[in-house]
Amino acid sequence: MAYLYETHMHTCLSSACGKSTGKEHARRYADLGFAGIIITDHFFGGNCAVPRSLPWQEKVKQFCRGYEDAREEGEKIGLDVFFGWEQGYGDDEYLVYGLDKAWLLTHPEIEKCSRARQLELVHEGGGAVIQAHPFRMRDYMRYIRLGLRFCDGAEVANAGNQQVNDTYAYHYAQEFHLVMTAGSDNHDSSRINRQEELFGVALNEKLSDISDYVALIRNRGEIGLHVDPSRFEADPVASPVLTSYWINAQEELEATGRTWIR
Ligand SMILES: [Zn+2]
Ligand SMILES: [Zn+2]
Repeated sequence: MAYLYETHMHTCLSSACGKSTGKEHARRYADLGFAGIIITDHFFGGNCAVPRSLPWQEKVKQFCRGYEDAREEGEKIGLDVFFGWEQGYGDDEYLVYGLDKAWLLTHPEIEKCSRARQLELVHEGGGAVIQAHPFRMRDYMRYIRLGLRFCDGAEVANAGNQQVNDTYAYHYAQEFHLVMTAGSDNHDSSRINRQEELFGVALNEKLSDISDYVALIRNRGEIGLHVDPSRFEADPVASPVLTSYWINAQEELEATGRTWIR
């Protein structure tokens, strides 16, 4: 028996684009048989709902509302709710796991630091960083930007992506031996009716804490992907030609010159 966890989702309390409250999300995931969820609202480099002008303490307090709302409901209905966030650097975004509100309160430098410093700070704090949807192509994402050196793994399946984006990500992660995760990027649980519409990870053991998930990522434990394997078999010829860049050590773009799986 596997325990299902959502690893990527947004609430309307803390993400400007979120539609569901934490409570609404929690109820839907419990109904659909998930063991737990990780709330990953858009952090201050992304589409965060919290005014950037507030003092740090107040910003963190408001940022954690979506998670706290979900957690309150989760405790009532028996769904484990964990905390994380998604930081944005323009066209590349990172899911951060394993740190909490108390850590945020004492680390205001996380708000605007470089990708390299983010990874360093998160590791120092005992967390992990996963690059979200590395091959997503959207109007708001101009180029594929691969932050290989700035993460512990890659989200190879994202339900908000087109299938071919995930096929590319899967091949990329295989080639570079990256830890792979899957998530829904769910902003609106009212539109979800079946477990199959959600992506996530399927774990052999129940997480007692978010640090258990971090340990699976950092120690390359077994992380099952809750997604149909055909997700990684899209025909790349049917997709637009990719322009992709490495983010180098100076955090500048360097053309990969790669056609990936074409
Ligand atoms: Zn969003
Ligand atoms: Zn997201």
